[in-house]
Amino acid sequence: MRYLGVFFLIILVGCGAIDPKTQPTYFSGTIVNPTSNYVTLHREEALIDTAYLDQNGRFSMRLEGLEEGLYHFDHPPEYNYVYLQKGDSIHIRINTVSFDESLVFSGRGSELNNFILEMFLTNERESYSIEKNYVLDPEPFHQLIETIRADKLTMLSDLQREVTLSERAVSMVAANIDYNLYVHKEKYPFFHENSPQVKDFPAAFFDYRKNIERNNRDLSHFKPYFQFMKFHLGNMAYEACTDQCGIIPTPEKPLHFNLHKLNIIDSLVEDRLLKDQLMRQLALQYWVKSQDTEARITQFYQVFAPYLKENRYAEELNDVYQSIISLQPDRDVLPLPIVDHQGKLTNLRKLTEDRKVVIYFWSTKYEGMLYRIQQKVAELQKKWPEYQFIGISPDQDAVHWSATIQEYDMQPQLQYRSINPEDLQNRLIWDNAFKSVVLENGKIVNGFANLQTSFQNK
Ligand SMILES: [Zn+2]
Repeated sequence: MRYLGVFFLIILVGCGAIDPKTQPTYFSGTIVNPTSNYVTLHREEALIDTAYLDQNGRFSMRLEGLEEGLYHFDHPPEYNYVYLQKGDSIHIRINTVSFDESLVFSGRGSELNNFILEMFLTNERESYSIEKNYVLDPEPFHQLIETIRADKLTMLSDLQREVTLSERAVSMVAANIDYNLYVHKEKYPFFHENSPQVKDFPAAFFDYRKNIERNNRDLSHFKPYFQFMKFHLGNMAYEACTDQCGIIPTPEKPLHFNLHKLNIIDSLVEDRLLKDQLMRQLALQYWVKSQDTEARITQFYQVFAPYLKENRYAEELNDVYQSIISLQPDRDVLPLPIVDHQGKLTNLRKLTEDRKVVIYFWSTKYEGMLYRIQQKVAELQKKWPEYQFIGISPDQDAVHWSATIQEYDMQPQLQYRSINPEDLQNRLIWDNAFKSVVLENGKIVNGFANLQTSFQNK
């Protein structure tokens, strides 16, 4: 009898009589033209699993006790989203030549994912056509957005008739629809900033603001929501400033406006992770992009410090702040270790001790940009002969680096490699392809120069 019991149990499992909610979830796929040899699955910032591709580009993951929700999978340098529920068995197929466009989901749970993907793909096209309608008056613009939204919600109810969706999945898709559309209502006032006739918004224009989720962990890593929040909080800060200070915020006074923003994020956002991310982005944006004075950058830091203590990105933000300060005019150049083309070790300060130098950055990883950078450097070197234009690369493979220098006809004696590649981003704030730093006699002249825009007056 006992054996028979076990036998029956096996039959039952085979017939699928076990509730899918207690079954593992399978996530597998085929990558055509792979750009790396693995796929990783993430939930928020946590790595859930890594699977290596076999010789046919296939991978497979078996996930036990998985929490339902939105995940993202990475096949560097690309990524996309997948919504997973317990008992799902999802297979993806991707050709990396057109990553997003070629993605197809099949298997149990695929209907929802194909729907989300389809919305993601139409969104870009649609976004462009909505932007062309920013010229409309508030009432017709409001109608346009609401009509598109109603159509999409109908498509969602159609899907719900075909497949059973959890409440959580439905609310995720609805959020996707809403935030992708309402971000346009948040951008619209900026577009009309200087046209006084667009002041009176119809009563219903901003109705959705009453229902914005401020505490939904599912959304904190969801790009449309994050984008929406950025613009929304910008508008709220703008309104707060006009109300409280009776002035119109101007780009010439970024500190004032960014302090309003900090305050708005603190008072409107409840979810800890989302708050940390928004504050991180605000601080980085202000410190790196505003090029404000050292005094004001420090003032922002002092107001920000109490929030920073409990922010999960505190270490990174403190480092960036220190780096920004060390790049202020007249500061000593940091002695960051670098090697020359013969492998000889030196440091950045020594290199600039007795001359005028412009350093710029390139990497064999972004070879696509290299030709344009070198063309620009050649042009500037002619115009500014008193400066030496020196390239610094994060490359660790000296042979490949040297070969690239030869291939692009650069002067090897003006090229260096960083010993700690992360120095370039973290200490010198290499945040764009044309970033450069102007140095003279071991001191910083301009820590935030740009090859394309900072060297025009001559
Ligand atoms: Zn103000």
